[in-house]
Amino acid sequence: MQEKPYDIVIIGAGLGGLLSAALLSKEGYKVCVLEKNKQIGGCLQSFGFDGKLFESAVHYIGSLDEGQTLYKIFRYLGLMEKLQLLRLDTECFDEIRFGEKIFKMAQGHASFIDTLSVSFPNERNGIDAYIREMCHVCEHFPMYNLRIGNAEEKQAVSRFGLKEKLDSLTENELLKQVLTGNNLLYGGHYQYTPFYLHALIENSYIESSFKCRDGSTQIARLLQEVIQQQGGEVLRNADIQRLVEKDGLLLYAEDSNGEQYHAAHFISNLHPQRTYRMLDSNMIRPIARRRFDTLPNTLSSFVVNISLKEKRIPFVNHNIYSHTTEDAWHDAHRSVIDTPTSFGIFFAEDKQHPGYAASLSILTYMDASATSSWDHSFHTTSERDKREEAYQQFKQQHIVDIIGSLQSVIPGLKEAVKAVDASTPLTYRDYLNSPEGTMYGIQKDVRRLAESTLATRTKIPNLYLTGQNINLHGVLGVSITAVLNAADFVGLEYLVKKINAAE
Ligand SMILES: Cc1cc2nc3c(=O)[nH]c(=O)nc-3n(C[C@H](O)[C@H](O)[C@H](O)COP(=O)(O)OP(=O)(O)OC[C@H]3O[C@@H](n4cnc5c(N)ncnc54)[C@H](O)[C@@H]3O)c2cc1C
Repeated sequence: MQEKPYDIVIIGAGLGGLLSAALLSKEGYKVCVLEKNKQIGGCLQSFGFDGKLFESAVHYIGSLDEGQTLYKIFRYLGLMEKLQLLRLDTECFDEIRFGEKIFKMAQGHASFIDTLSVSFPNERNGIDAYIREMCHVCEHFPMYNLRIGNAEEKQAVSRFGLKEKLDSLTENELLKQVLTGNNLLYGGHYQYTPFYLHALIENSYIESSFKCRDGSTQIARLLQEVIQQQGGEVLRNADIQRLVEKDGLLLYAEDSNGEQYHAAHFISNLHPQRTYRMLDSNMIRPIARRRFDTLPNTLSSFVVNISLKEKRIPFVNHNIYSHTTEDAWHDAHRSVIDTPTSFGIFFAEDKQHPGYAASLSILTYMDASATSSWDHSFHTTSERDKREEAYQQFKQQHIVDIIGSLQSVIPGLKEAVKAVDASTPLTYRDYLNSPEGTMYGIQKDVRRLAESTLATRTKIPNLYLTGQNINLHGVLGVSITAVLNAADFVGLEYLVKKINAAE
């Protein structure tokens, strides 16, 4: 291969890699994105099962209404007019259940306060204070609002733990549980997860909540089109194994077939632990590498995907987070989860029979230790090393337990199942190359904020990082980081101005 045919080689075609590539190719850089899988998108992969489309991860997206931050980034790249979106019910995008008790989260700050105050008539002031505090924190994150700011304003609102902050806003324990009842969206620990993380994620969905019609893969496909239109390339089945540095600069990335990809700059979309493990260089000291081996990651998940019999289960245009105990953090705090007590339930409508659900997915926490007996196995659609029978039995038992636990939430569910399968921590580990199949990467912790927050630049001047481990996870968080990453090349003020000005 000729030397340096690309300006920038990007490792990983997840949202982070594709978005960094799209932004930079629009600036005239010749980019090449290398993806280990047959399918691009990482967490944005949708897949067919029993003739129906399922999401591997992304079930809904915040901040996509006109004028909001993600809308602006996607509009700048020409995605907004092509994306097929469905707005979740404005009066309830997330329903939070504790046993028989049902609470609704509405879109729009004022509606959120009004709706929740119906369930907590004596807590209107507390709910109002919660929303004010959330907005205050979000305003102090400049890039969350696509404006130029400084680190100090972020730091001033970053040091509070989630529990500490909620305790200061209300004494009502049930209200606090409800406000964090969809914590499957960010994971972590009730005490140590920073309030700012909760605020940035939660606020984006209160601003607006959409799901992708016909799969979130469309986002990856549209980004690939932008890259290709600008002369860039997206190569599949390129499993990068080595990053080789010489004389202080990264020289090339090498895949499992020995193919070398040379470029002037490199961006890694991988978990930093994975990036540094394949880095052949003395420039990153062992202590820095160890940091990424020891920093805790958020838990992984067990996701049940159910194809439903026709006209059995009504479709609802919102998500349900259901808890069988009074503690929404019960599963998040346990390392071994036998039978889950918290469930995120996501519905897809049957196009042939509107008003009924065609399928549903159930998200639960699961730590990687639950599947560690099969750590030696590896399975993706391109490498079909079938896992052992005991693993299949483990999955099956877990599926039965979860469906059994939800009989009162979705009456008739057991009888309505046509086909069912599940993904485990190993599924996410193998498809995404994420350590322990972690859902959201490095766990943000208010006790060690500096350690758990990374920069897009590294000690190697031509190696950069993008993706969910850097600032904030989720479609919005990863997109903001991609803007910061692209700004390393073209300047932040210039890029932010262009994004805000785009028609
Ligand atoms: C179960 C689950 C549910 C979620 N639900 C939501 C949701 O509803 N809404 C939301 O906004 N967010 C959700 N998220 C979070 C969101 O999906 C992620 O934060 C985001 O998509 C991560 O993007 P990324 O580019 O950082 O990483 P990834 O999507 O993990 O992409 C990394 C890419 O790098 C590739 N790769 C890895 N190693 C190599 C290698 N050696 N060589 C080449 N390529 C490699 C991988 O195959 C992958 O394509 C969810 C995540 C999970 C796991």
